[in-house]
Amino acid sequence: MSRYRPFIQAALCCVVLAVSIITLANQQQSRTQPLVPSSSEDQSRYAEVATTSGEMPAAMASSTMSINVPILVYHIVRPAYPDDSRAVRALALTPETFDAQMMYLARAGYHVISFAALEDYFKRHIALPEKPVILSFDDGWKDQFTYAFPLLVKNKYPATFFIFTNSIGRHGFISWEDLQIMQSAGMTIGSHSLSHPYLTRVATSTLWGEINDSKRILEQHLGVSVNEFAYPFGNYNPAIIAIVKKAGYRSARGDYESGEQSPDRLYQLSALNAPTTTALFEKKFPITGYVMRQAVGTILQTTTTSSE
Ligand SMILES: [Zn+2]
Repeated sequence: MSRYRPFIQAALCCVVLAVSIITLANQQQSRTQPLVPSSSEDQSRYAEVATTSGEMPAAMASSTMSINVPILVYHIVRPAYPDDSRAVRALALTPETFDAQMMYLARAGYHVISFAALEDYFKRHIALPEKPVILSFDDGWKDQFTYAFPLLVKNKYPATFFIFTNSIGRHGFISWEDLQIMQSAGMTIGSHSLSHPYLTRVATSTLWGEINDSKRILEQHLGVSVNEFAYPFGNYNPAIIAIVKKAGYRSARGDYESGEQSPDRLYQLSALNAPTTTALFEKKFPITGYVMRQAVGTILQTTTTSSE
């Protein structure tokens, strides 16, 4: 991974530059555009980070230790457009690729769980299935409702959609009705603040509103408790964590680091940018020996039975 780092950093600088140009030129454009950080340092949070394969069955791990539960972050799922910029392509998947990734997860023996299940594992020692993965979507783009949501339903996977409430119902963004439909279908709605700022840069007096009011607005409209928060741009500090706890969230998704989670970092859960191709996805989520042996065993059994 390290030998690729200079190239990744160079590519990310290009992405940042491209994003700045897009932002200036297309502020009114309704087509999905990534809300990406403005500095290369922050942009690196969106880079892929190598993760361990999670060979150890989760149910056998102790809930007081760290555990490998990749939290994937998706931004854009929609058909590709010929004029898509590099910044968009770096975060975009076609519906076909997304569907292929979802089908692959089951085939490779992974189990999609919710943030609540991870919280229960750490706080109440409730066992997790083997090879757990969490799916999340950021920023509330309408395309996520149009293209990704039906594929999640088709594959019977729960996901959490982190919404910044000022965007709800705006052109190009998910509406309240969409959120209610997704919630009824088993999706979880989390808060991504009111206005998607760098929380470490906003005045202390507005932090409470960004973190607490967004939760209350979602709860009032959806009629459920909103328990998960995702820091915009993965940007936070200890004071912000304290406010997230005070507002009553049960966990928060933080930096883009790895798939490793630990009980003392429930408000700094580590995220992974979702790979944009099936090949990269399969590399990140390898089929382990156990699943391979199961598959071979099934084939051998079928062959033996059919030859009898
Ligand atoms: Zn965001």
